[in-house]
Amino acid sequence: MLKIGLTGGIGSGKTTIANLFAELNVPVIDADEIAREVVAPGSQALEQIRHAFSERVIADDGSLDRSAMRELIFADTEQKRKLEAIVHPKVRQSILKRVASLDASYCIICVPLLVESSMANLVDRVLVVDCPVETQIERVAKRDRLDEKIVRAIIDSQATREQRKALANDLIGNTSSDSMLAEQVKKLHNLYLYLSKRQDF
Ligand code: ATP
Repeated sequence: MLKIGLTGGIGSGKTTIANLFAELNVPVIDADEIAREVVAPGSQALEQIRHAFSERVIADDGSLDRSAMRELIFADTEQKRKLEAIVHPKVRQSILKRVASLDASYCIICVPLLVESSMANLVDRVLVVDCPVETQIERVAKRDRLDEKIVRAIIDSQATREQRKALANDLIGNTSSDSMLAEQVKKLHNLYLYLSKRQDF
């Protein structure tokens, strides 16, 4: 099955675009959701994390303490790599298992950090949602009631628009109105249906 990786910076509009594909009955897999499932209490991954990072990253209820984990890996590439080595292979495996269970011409796999992580080779094509940084800041500050400075810091920690565009096979500019977006999605939908029939993505 043709696998389309949907990515974009924070607040660029990944969920908005994914919902438009879902309205066309295209299955959408959310890598963040899978990443949460993979480290659920009782999972092998969480046990490995406990072993590698000690009890300080486990919350009282036995789940992963995400903020403790974030703090630990923030600005520490070695620790970050250690976590990714545990989690990423399992996320990949779980995504591929989900894909195999689908009955569709193609699917959308939403991977926010596709460019930053080793997930790019999991998909056949990369669809990037792009908008100006100022628009990202405006949307996220409004949606999450966050200070603009914090949003800017998150954006600075992610890949740049140029780095994403360099990996893109397809691009959606999400600065327009909803009806324009639906039109762009419909065009891509037709392209993906066409490519999925050719089998040589
Ligand atoms: P995150 O990376 O935080 O998960 P995202 O990339 O999934 O975000 P969305 O949640 O789809 O982005 O969009 C961010 C916010 O901007 C939402 O509140 C959404 O309703 C709004 N938004 C998205 N696209 C548009 C648009 N074209 N016009 C106006 N508002 C929009």
